[in-house]
Amino acid sequence: MDGKNAKPDFPVIDAHVHLYPDFLAKKVVPDLAGRFGNEPSFDGTMDGCAAKNAECGIRAALNLPVATKPESVFRTNRFWAEAVDLRAKDGIRSLAAFHPLLADQPAELEHIVSCGFAGLKMHPEYQRFGFGDPSMDEVWAAMSDLGLVAYLHAGGERVFAGPYRSNPLEIAKLQRRFPRLKIVAAHLGGFGMWDEAEALLAGTSTYLDLSHTFFWMSKDQIFRMICKHGADRILFGSDAPWQDAGKVLEEFLTLPLGRDEQEAICFRNAAELFKISLP
Ligand SMILES: [Zn+2]
Repeated sequence: MDGKNAKPDFPVIDAHVHLYPDFLAKKVVPDLAGRFGNEPSFDGTMDGCAAKNAECGIRAALNLPVATKPESVFRTNRFWAEAVDLRAKDGIRSLAAFHPLLADQPAELEHIVSCGFAGLKMHPEYQRFGFGDPSMDEVWAAMSDLGLVAYLHAGGERVFAGPYRSNPLEIAKLQRRFPRLKIVAAHLGGFGMWDEAEALLAGTSTYLDLSHTFFWMSKDQIFRMICKHGADRILFGSDAPWQDAGKVLEEFLTLPLGRDEQEAICFRNAAELFKISLP
């Protein structure tokens, strides 16, 4: 990749985006933009994402839906299962939503598997639970058995005040208690808690993504954490539309990594973990 707006000559999967059905995007995205205090890089729709990614040379994007209420989980998952079927050719993929207060958790996990989702997203700040809550133990155990990936928000969150439930120590403890559970901790394991994440998660079996790290933490520390952790468990992600995936990719490509490490982080790890075949 040479200079601005050039595209990488290998495929890229953005493993961390937030998309909304068209009718919701119009309402939700401007509302969240106000709360986050930053402009979105596109309108939050699947069309917007596909167009933006085509500009940046990103071949696929993995949507991570967060259910703020248990009653919206089933219809959210039905929506994204259908959307992914229809839009896979545009590189739109999705994980499932889940909520710790779901009345019938085993039934929803079965639904998630039957829809073909590779995993689900959980956000302890929006969903008000802790990774160590005893009520979650059966969920983590079932997910380990089913091979479902737990994609977890990690660290601080701009619209909530600390102390944060999803801190690196809690993630490290969860991974130790459920060693077979495939965990992805967003934001290199702890947004705004970079030193704690580096001390407690770098080098463990937990996958870490790069969303909301560039422009927020030092590039030296990002590079050091990738080296300590190993490129085979790092995922490229942007958190688009709340960051500009093209700019994040440009920054990533300035790190002094080898071609094999770049390819692992940009697509190989995500393709394997989430069973994504590129369009
Ligand atoms: Zn996110």
